[in-house]
Amino acid sequence: MTDSSTVARAVDRLFRIAEGDELRSLSGLAEALARDRGRPLVICEGPDLPARVFGQWVRHADHDEVKYASWVHARERTIAHELGHIVLNHVGRPAIELALEALPPESHGLAALMLERDCDNVRSPEEVDAEAFGNLLLRRLKGGRHVNRSPGIRSRLDEAFG
Ligand SMILES: [Zn+2]
Repeated sequence: MTDSSTVARAVDRLFRIAEGDELRSLSGLAEALARDRGRPLVICEGPDLPARVFGQWVRHADHDEVKYASWVHARERTIAHELGHIVLNHVGRPAIELALEALPPESHGLAALMLERDCDNVRSPEEVDAEAFGNLLLRRLKGGRHVNRSPGIRSRLDEAFG
């Protein structure tokens, strides 16, 4: 698991690259992230997700797709969690990208499958980090401008209450 200040810095960075109204909503922050990455980001309900999987990030060749399960009530939380995987570079690790480059085009469907990230309740370190990112992001989004603590204090508070 990444230390909490790294997650807090990643949230800070997303709020820094967001402009104007983007700062007011989760979809706005997602748009800022897409612009920063130079790749479109599509967020949609995924009726085809495997059972127990609440969210999924699929890294397509030319865009990113975040899906949430139709039964999920906390959609914002799921979306914020998936954005955490993207921001924290959890997929697109060099080994996978090199494998994709090395594969012939007819195998890219299989490679895309490998690049899907299914989020269920498995508590892997990356899942814990994405969850921490999502919680921090939503808290800051809902806290608004009057919340004016330093990131260091904020992350310590998160440890205390999170
Ligand atoms: Zn996840």
